Amino acid sequence: MRAILHVDMDAFYASVEQNDRPELRGKPLIVGGDSRRGVAAAASYEARQYGVRSAMPTREALQRCPHLIIVPPRMERYRQVSEIVFGVFREYTPLVEGLSLDEAFLDVTASQALFGTAPVIAQRIKAQIRERTGLTASVGIAHNKLLAKIASDLDKPNGLHHIQLTQVTQTLDPLPVSRLPGVGPKTWARLDSAGIRTFGDLRLAPDCVLSPLFGRHASRMRDRASGLDERPVQPEVIEQHISVEETYDTDLTAPEQLRTELARLSDRVGARLRGKSFEGGTVSIKVRRGDFSTYTRSRSFEPPTADTGAILSIAQILLERWHAEYPGSSVRLLGVGIGALVPATQLDLFAPAASTPPVGLMLPDPSRAAARLDPTLDEIRARFGESAVRRASNLDRAAKNDGFSDLRRR
Ligand SMILES: [Mg+2]
Repeated sequence: MRAILHVDMDAFYASVEQNDRPELRGKPLIVGGDSRRGVAAAASYEARQYGVRSAMPTREALQRCPHLIIVPPRMERYRQVSEIVFGVFREYTPLVEGLSLDEAFLDVTASQALFGTAPVIAQRIKAQIRERTGLTASVGIAHNKLLAKIASDLDKPNGLHHIQLTQVTQTLDPLPVSRLPGVGPKTWARLDSAGIRTFGDLRLAPDCVLSPLFGRHASRMRDRASGLDERPVQPEVIEQHISVEETYDTDLTAPEQLRTELARLSDRVGARLRGKSFEGGTVSIKVRRGDFSTYTRSRSFEPPTADTGAILSIAQILLERWHAEYPGSSVRLLGVGIGALVPATQLDLFAPAASTPPVGLMLPDPSRAAARLDPTLDEIRARFGESAVRRASNLDRAAKNDGFSDLRRR
């Protein structure tokens, strides 16, 4: 039988801030944009007592807790701490599947011969994370990923919960279906309308109830409610998607503004992709209008790329098509993402051009010259900060939009 841990740092960004800045300890805070249009990226446990949650608009969070402290995010610092935490994981097993900066599955089946039983390993990992970072983590233990993930949430914060094979049904049955990973509000509503509120309800629901709701996925839903999951821990998939997005204080309306922002976001996505030595085969954009309706568009291509110019040209095509569908829209949030990630092919800066342009798309400039330039810009950026380097095309457009840079929030 496999032994899987799901380790999840408690209120990660908020806890890092409280740990780094003692004056914030014991205080309700969120990490996020301080503008009235921002969103909470994380909420401290003190803030959660007021009903403040991550992903909640800052404005609403402030209504619930007027003395809430808003701390601007420091992603670099969170990445640093994350590396320490993942370093602890890798001391116990090479089979680490990161889900985000603060969350991972660990397959410790074989590690038990060396380090002790899975609960012993979990205790040691928690203690070492605490020692090296000052932070607490919650750990779920089970024989599969689904149950481990559910378990890590049961005793949060600083939790340790082991779901044994013999306890699966009694542990899961009373839980609300909202605890089932991957089930969103739309599905809850459908389940609720069918009178299904708990895992037990779902596990015991007959086909005639589930089939109309989920079609061919009905039996899979029932399996999950029963705690069945065969997915292996996949260590090579470090990230499946990299994206950046920005919410603007003032809605963007001019096409030129949108293009400038798209170039900036594509550049950031490309830099992160190259920083992690990945290439991606799907580019996506996310657009939220002034009326909060949100759209995503994506497009896949071959071969995968990490080139900013290629990412931008696809993002531009997607945005132009979206804009044609919704002419005159004002945009409050814009995002660019890249998925279908694969490890980057070794890029030799001095090798002759040897790549073929992506199939099925006419890219304005897929030349290797651009690919050679990108890593150079990344290095300068790493040394002197992101603002040190702007692509000329970015600068041109920014210059044309006088004062536009004031609209940005970082
Ligand atoms: Mg977490």
